[in-house]
Amino acid sequence: MDCSLSNLIASNSSWNLDLFRLWVPEEIIDQIVSVPPPHPSSGLNRIIWRATSTNTFSLNSAYGKVCEGTLNPNEVFWRIPWKFKCPHRTCFFIWLVLKQMLLTNIERIRRGSGSSSACGICGHVLEDMMHTLKDCLAAKGVWDKIIPKQTLSSFYSGSLLDWMATNLQNQMTSSTGGIDWSCLFGIIAWRIWKNRNMFVFQGISWSVEEIIKISFSWAKQYSSISLISKFEARSTLPNWPMSNSWVCLNTGGSVKIDEGFAATGGCVRDHKGEWIIGFARYLGNCSVLEVEFLGILDGLNLTADRCFQKFLIQTDSIEAIEAIMEDDTRISNSTIIRRIHHMLKKLE
Ligand SMILES: [Zn+2]
Repeated sequence: MDCSLSNLIASNSSWNLDLFRLWVPEEIIDQIVSVPPPHPSSGLNRIIWRATSTNTFSLNSAYGKVCEGTLNPNEVFWRIPWKFKCPHRTCFFIWLVLKQMLLTNIERIRRGSGSSSACGICGHVLEDMMHTLKDCLAAKGVWDKIIPKQTLSSFYSGSLLDWMATNLQNQMTSSTGGIDWSCLFGIIAWRIWKNRNMFVFQGISWSVEEIIKISFSWAKQYSSISLISKFEARSTLPNWPMSNSWVCLNTGGSVKIDEGFAATGGCVRDHKGEWIIGFARYLGNCSVLEVEFLGILDGLNLTADRCFQKFLIQTDSIEAIEAIMEDDTRISNSTIIRRIHHMLKKLE
């Protein structure tokens, strides 16, 4: 087009639309009509950002502009991931799904980082979230085993978002052995996605039975923990002595055998379950049982220093407790157990 902008303005200072019509279609003309043509009284041209009231650019407003009409953060829909009762990592996963942010092969192609849009597990030509979580052979194998036959067709119908919303808001427990369905559904969906990633990146594949078993286990564990209200957790610990002269010593340890890394820690709480003092210590390279013993010993030293009258020791290692109790009547071969016995006698 060999003309300047001034050539496109008619003598009456309006756009020369007949000239425009030579090059652009009518729908574009409709948009140009509403734009005021350049005029000497308009002053110099300036670049402004119309998405903010101050006409200055911000990333926030640009993102809002891009999502305009497609995303309303105030919709009830977006509260689902944070309202349904499930482990936090699963909630976060569901949020990513609803935001359509999982890096499936289709999404990787869209972002210019993938070479194939096909599913790496079943070979389906398009691997999107709907395929991975619902329609892939790997996913179907799991859902088919869990969903009752008479409801299978309705389970598989609907868009991805409808499917997620329906199941995440369904708190039926009748067909899941007392486990909240929304929780189990979220965990299974997350597990299917993890399984897909393990297969793609590490060549590892879990069987359908393993996925179902571990998902049920997670859901059961979560349900049993969430059943204990905060009040109960604080005041009705098992075997908790109610007298206010008691304190409770909780100890535990962690060992990374391959890396030779071990640490122990614990805390002392009063008769109401309130925190009094805590401790943690790096132990280098030692066995699981030694870590438990050292945790108890550290805790006893801490308790002795503060002259508590009566205390209860709680640990998750039955082996450690049995070893301490067994050797109680004789001199133990283990230095740590001898020191624990010494401390126990001192505290009596
Ligand atoms: Zn597939």
